[in-house]
Amino acid sequence: MSSSALHILQSVFGYPAFRGEQQAIIEHVASGGDALVLMPTGGGKSLCYQIPALLRDGCAIVVSPLIALMQDQVDALRQLGVEAAFLNSSLDAQAQREVERRFADGALKLLYVAPERLLTERCLDLIARTPVSLFAIDEAHCVSQWGHDFRPEYRALTILHERFPAIPRIALTATADAPTRREIVERLALESARQFVASFDRPNICYRVAEKDDARRQLKDFLVAHKGASGIVYCLSRRKVEDTADWLVEQGVAALPYHAGMDAAMRARNQQRFLREEGFVMVATIAFGMGIDKPDVRFVAHMDLPKSMEGYYQETGRAGRDGLPADAWLCYGLGDVVTLAQFIAQSESGEERKRVERRKLDELLGYAETTACRRQRLLAYFGETLPKPCGNCDNCLEPPETWDASVVAQKALSCVYRTGQRYGVTHLTAVLRGEADDRIRSLRHDELSTFGVGADLDKQQWRGVFRQLVATGLLTPDEEGYGTLRLTASSRDVLRGEKSVLLRRQADSAGRRAKRQKV
Ligand code: ADP
Ligand code: ZN
Repeated sequence: MSSSALHILQSVFGYPAFRGEQQAIIEHVASGGDALVLMPTGGGKSLCYQIPALLRDGCAIVVSPLIALMQDQVDALRQLGVEAAFLNSSLDAQAQREVERRFADGALKLLYVAPERLLTERCLDLIARTPVSLFAIDEAHCVSQWGHDFRPEYRALTILHERFPAIPRIALTATADAPTRREIVERLALESARQFVASFDRPNICYRVAEKDDARRQLKDFLVAHKGASGIVYCLSRRKVEDTADWLVEQGVAALPYHAGMDAAMRARNQQRFLREEGFVMVATIAFGMGIDKPDVRFVAHMDLPKSMEGYYQETGRAGRDGLPADAWLCYGLGDVVTLAQFIAQSESGEERKRVERRKLDELLGYAETTACRRQRLLAYFGETLPKPCGNCDNCLEPPETWDASVVAQKALSCVYRTGQRYGVTHLTAVLRGEADDRIRSLRHDELSTFGVGADLDKQQWRGVFRQLVATGLLTPDEEGYGTLRLTASSRDVLRGEKSVLLRRQADSAGRRAKRQKV
């Protein structure tokens, strides 16, 4: 068996040897076992079902939500001489019938199908009448409400197991924290499947998080250190993508914009230039990157917070595929936290979904604010333990100073309380610093006991304190979007002096600049 798997790897795919656990997975599935495979992007998941598909009788059904990628995969397989096809909404009726006919005739070894198509009676009937070698469920995290990319159609995939219990199933994903993994197992009835979990560590990527003070200048400084290299700069909105790309071009950087709202031809052209030529900086929304395989991306910069650790891991994971040193740089500030919290609160999602999204944001904030090794934190999120600090993240390379900010936190929280939990950072800071203006006087906030108790910190320092208090859940932004801050259940312990607060010491801007120039 293994010799024939290896033979196929070499003769069909042209690779000399298996990577990681590919061989074990392939042997397990080829001999009829169910499997759940967790492997980072680029780890080589496709071969884990493609080779069993070639080893077993019948045609493999590959479920994938990514229509754009189906075409690529099928083209690649055909070039290798493998009979493969896909069924999705991009085919017209005649092309679809042709694929169905070839499938029914037993002429295909792999058939890629979008889940909503697979779940039609027509498709299920066809499957019932045709020998099927296995079901591969790609992007299996889509089945999970805890996942970052929930797709209701995936829920119905249990029907495969119910209708065709004898056909082996392999579920694959590149991102799944522990609750997501549990839900995949439960939803897809994979309790007795063998789990294969590859390491998610990308040791050549150096992780850094910067406090946002002047984001563009900070980005420019970052890019100077990567002159001539290819990289990606992620922004949250299309507007910001365009503004940032324009600005970078004015600054003499070879930047290209990319987002889903752009003209398709222009978007394709930018993508091709980025892929084929050297030294372009792609400024993009997260619409860019899915299925992009450019090995020498030297950096990924985030100008806005990603929505989740999964998103962050996937996006940063596009750097350094060639194994050479690469940088992941995230620039974030209080405004980002407030914006994302509001996005979540104001979205159309149900309460449960909002809670999930909020929890995911909190995980990310915890990562951004940690004073310990970032890689340890990142891997822990995916259920992996890195025994020692990595030595290749900002916190390992330049350990941050922390300070006991319990008293400062008490002042901030009680100022929030005494002003009625109705104000944002600017106003709160003015009260704490004792800066009475007309508004403060008319509100009589200059008569509060917290007025002026925080004059020892400057505005920038207070901003950092408030950001960390929000990030650590001691304050929460209002849901309506006014940027006002409210106390949380855990604020009370701090106010009562029952819980101490340790914060990261903020370098002042000048200090940071000096530090950057040294490296
Ligand atoms: P994933 O789906 O896990 O993101 P892919 O299956 O697309 O990863 O594989 C990523 C790249 O690695 C592809 O270019 C693939 O051809 C290559 N690859 C996979 N397995 C091997 C191997 N054993 N030897 C060499 N290259 C491999
Ligand atoms: Zn580290």
